[in-house]
Amino acid sequence: MGKEKTIYGQCALCRQNKELQLSHIVPHFVGRRMKKTAPGNIRVTNEPNIVTQDIEKHYMLCHDCEELFSAKERWFASRIFNPWQDHKQQEFSYDQNLTYFIVSLSWRSLYLDLEEYSCDPTFNKEILLTMLRAENIMRDYLLGKRQDISDIENHMFFFDRIESASNYDFEKNPSVAMHRSITSYSAYNGNTSFTISNLLGIMIVTFYSMAEQEEWTNTQILNGSGTIAAKNQEIKSVVGQEIQHWMNEAENAKNNLSENQRNKIIEKMKNLGEGIKEYAIFQDFIDDETLRRNDGKNRD
Ligand SMILES: [Zn+2]
Repeated sequence: MGKEKTIYGQCALCRQNKELQLSHIVPHFVGRRMKKTAPGNIRVTNEPNIVTQDIEKHYMLCHDCEELFSAKERWFASRIFNPWQDHKQQEFSYDQNLTYFIVSLSWRSLYLDLEEYSCDPTFNKEILLTMLRAENIMRDYLLGKRQDISDIENHMFFFDRIESASNYDFEKNPSVAMHRSITSYSAYNGNTSFTISNLLGIMIVTFYSMAEQEEWTNTQILNGSGTIAAKNQEIKSVVGQEIQHWMNEAENAKNNLSENQRNKIIEKMKNLGEGIKEYAIFQDFIDDETLRRNDGKNRD
C-alpha cells in the first residue's frame, strides 16, 4: 500500500482549492471498533472472501474541514457510541454537537451519492431536486452560515438486542447483521428520501422528505439539546426494507464464504479458545441463538 499520495483539488465543503485529505465516510472510530471486536479481519459483505483492512475512503475534504468534523466525531464517540457499546448505557443527553455530527455524516454520504444520482436518467427528478436542495442547506449549516436545517429531520435508532420477533426473519441472525454492519448511503422509496447509516447497531437516518405514513417514535434528534434513549423506540417505515436488505446481504455473505475462508475463521476462533468470549460478535451469536429458542417459549 505505501504512503498516501498528496492530492490537490476542490474541497467538497468549503469549495477552496487545497490539499485534500483521505476522508472516511463512516467515522474512523467505527471501523476501529469493528477491528477490535471481530475475531478476524473486516469482511465486505458482497465480496465475502475479500478482506478489507479499512472502510470506504475518499479524497473529499481539506484539512480544516476535516478537523471541523473530527471534533464532533470525538464528541459522538465519547458521549454515545462508546458508552452504548461498552456499558450498554441507555440514556444520553445531547446538545447541538449531535445534530452537527449527524449532518456531517449524512452530508458526506449524500454528496458522494449525488455525484452518481445526478447522472442517472432513471432517478426521480423531484427527489433529486429535494436532495440537491438538502445538500446545500446541510453544507451551509456545516460551514456555520446558518443555524437551522430547515425541514430536514434526523433520527437515531438503537439495535440493542431485537426482542420482538414479529417482522424479522430470525434465521438471518438479526443482531449479528446489525451489530456487524457499517454502511452509509442515500435512497428513496415513494415520497420518502433519506440518507441512512448503520454504525454497528446505531442506525442514523436523515430525512429530506417524508411520506405521511412514516411513523418514528422516540427516535428524533432535535437541533439543540435533548435526550435520546435506547429503549421504547418504534418505527413503521420504508426504511425497514433497507434493514431487511442488510440482513439478506449478511446471510448471502455467510453462504458465499468459501470453505477455505470458513475454515480459517473457525481455526482462528479455536485458537482464541476461552478468549473468544471477549469478543462482541460471540455475544451476538449467543443472542441470536437465544432469540431462536425463545420463539414461542420463554427460556430461563
Ligand atoms: Zn475545506
